[in-house]
Amino acid sequence: MAGRVQGKVALVTGGSSGIGRAAAERLAQEGATVVITDLQDAKGADVVAAIQAMGGKADYLHHDVTQEQAWIEVMAAIKAKHGRLDILVNNAGIGISASVLDMSLADFQRQTAINVDGVFLGCKHGIPLMRTSGDGGSIINISSIAGLKGSAILAGYCATKGAVRLFTKSVAMECANAKDGIRCNSVHPGIIETPIWDSIIGTGEIGDNARAPRSATLDAMTADSVPLGVKGMPEDIANGILWLASDESRYVTGAELVIDGGLTVK
Ligand code: NAP
Repeated sequence: MAGRVQGKVALVTGGSSGIGRAAAERLAQEGATVVITDLQDAKGADVVAAIQAMGGKADYLHHDVTQEQAWIEVMAAIKAKHGRLDILVNNAGIGISASVLDMSLADFQRQTAINVDGVFLGCKHGIPLMRTSGDGGSIINISSIAGLKGSAILAGYCATKGAVRLFTKSVAMECANAKDGIRCNSVHPGIIETPIWDSIIGTGEIGDNARAPRSATLDAMTADSVPLGVKGMPEDIANGILWLASDESRYVTGAELVIDGGLTVK
């Protein structure tokens, strides 16, 4: 039986860890050739090895998503090796936890460069390659529940994820106007167990998304604040990414896929 993204070529940024790794593995399981990019080269090689061990196809490229020239080189490498791009998962991101009064401008700008500039550059340089096949494509931008509601001590992060939400809808409209068959959607994960939390938890009250005492664990945080009572796993987000990447979601563009155990409902 053909996989759900059989024969498609996918690029997953930040694919060496957490949600990006799970998405790369899930897409490869369902038949995509996956190009994983990240700053973490050794971990990226592990992901490629894991995918190849299960019979999938994957490459790894070192890639800083904040650098426009790096995007040009990544797209050129994908075109040379695979000849097309069908799925772009703009996933690379960081989370810096700080009061707006304490956060340095350098940290605010570094976070914005990765979380927003990286998504902009991905669309800017990914869409032209997607268009060359004439088969359309699917862009999946990873926002957050922090792009839907405010959170004390995460104001800078919320600003970046809110930007990704409306940037995504605008790209969706631009592609729809162009009738290029490219869809663009955002994914809004809740509290998902990945290394990104190492830089967030333990720093104190983090607002309405999850009230957590200093040095709380993800389990303690989610037991209190998530209606389903548990943290999410990277695979929970990867399954949503897979659906948006596949033709099963062919009529979905400019949408927000919230995967948060009900956290933003109450
Ligand atoms: P993660 O495990 O830390 O993975 C992110 C990966 O992106 C890391 O390998 C990271 O490398 C890489 N990266 C950082 N800066 C980069 C750059 N300039 N260029 C290329 N790669 C870069 O975090 P994650 O939780 O899977 O996060 C993935 C996405 O989900 C992020 O956009 C995040 O904001 C979003 N998200 C996560 C959660 C959650 O609960 N985990 C919730 C909502 C949204 P380094 O280790 O070197 O930084």
